[in-house]
Amino acid sequence: MEVRQDILKGVKRVVIKIGSSVISNRDKGRSSLECGLSRDWVRHYARKISSIRDMGIDVVLVSSGAIMAGRERLEFGRADLTIPEKQACAAIGQSFLMHTYEKAFEKKEIKVAQILLSHDDLGNRKRYLNAKHTIEALLEKGVIPIINENDSVTVEEIKIGDNDSLSATVACLVDAQLLIILSDVDGLYDRDPSLKSSSGAEKAQLLSHVSRVNEDIEKIAGKSNNRLTVGGMVTKVLAAKKTMSFGIPALVVNGLDEKVIEKIFTGKEVGTLFWSGKGKIRDRKHWIAHTLKSAGTLTVDAGARKALVEGGKSLLPAGLVKVSGNFEFGNALTLVDESGIEIGRGLVNYNSRDLENIKGMKTSAVRSLMGKAFYEEVIHRDDLVIF
Ligand code: GLU
Repeated sequence: MEVRQDILKGVKRVVIKIGSSVISNRDKGRSSLECGLSRDWVRHYARKISSIRDMGIDVVLVSSGAIMAGRERLEFGRADLTIPEKQACAAIGQSFLMHTYEKAFEKKEIKVAQILLSHDDLGNRKRYLNAKHTIEALLEKGVIPIINENDSVTVEEIKIGDNDSLSATVACLVDAQLLIILSDVDGLYDRDPSLKSSSGAEKAQLLSHVSRVNEDIEKIAGKSNNRLTVGGMVTKVLAAKKTMSFGIPALVVNGLDEKVIEKIFTGKEVGTLFWSGKGKIRDRKHWIAHTLKSAGTLTVDAGARKALVEGGKSLLPAGLVKVSGNFEFGNALTLVDESGIEIGRGLVNYNSRDLENIKGMKTSAVRSLMGKAFYEEVIHRDDLVIF
């Protein structure tokens, strides 16, 4: 309770992720695939969000539901849609989704704006900053940005994939003090609550506070079997891990509880709070560590590992043991030690062809081989995040 009250005291800006199942017509007794968008639930959350704003808190929304709404409009009954079919659903559903939000917020005299993002927008520093500036300008004007993935044009390679991850990136992008993920589950349980417990087996317990996302937590998050949404608990846990590393608490709650927003903002023990209590890492480093997709892997020897991890040094060609992947100058790479353990992420100063030629070489030899294209560091420490 105290932790939650403490967090709330510092909240000036919040990112709220609304999952498809939270704004679906699920209560009409139809199968989840046919259920479509519920205007009532959208209106409900428009009212709640307006009340959060009345507390002087900026709200940025990340809303799913485009594919669900489009499915209904295009009358797709079957479960397995092809990618172009899903993209068609997203295209028709997104405008319907926005129209519904617009109408709902109109009642509260609040304007909304649509922002569609893809991984490309967030993985490129310039576009990342552009998106940030646009959102800031909208908030300044009292507009609620409503963000979704640009599903109709994104192919698998440039997809963010799920809106839990998108919401975490957005929370970091806009420097929010809290991420709220509204889903159709109560939070993270210590075991799968849907499994029938054999007699005598303990009931699943809701975890009220997770202070560190480790392998055990990821394991109990398991997989989702909800066919309406992309993510399950596991994507929520990974989203929380991401915001936590940036110093932002994440709260996963059941959005089907009509009173959940009041409960959150009065500091009640609702859902699962992911919060380590630790502060922020620098903005750009966060972008390197969590937003960029890794284009390859560099294996470093024990000496280089020590210099990087303990000495805060840059990575030099001499410490490189192995180069994997096909990458270009400026790409983000994963660094591993010789036992394969990930030690960090960084932006590389060479492409994979050149790096293959210079790995293990002394700086002076690299200088004469590379001439004008010489960089002393393979990855400069300013471009490096050690985990
Ligand atoms: N972007 C998808 C949609 O609007 C949802 C993805 C997700 O729920 O994670 O339908």
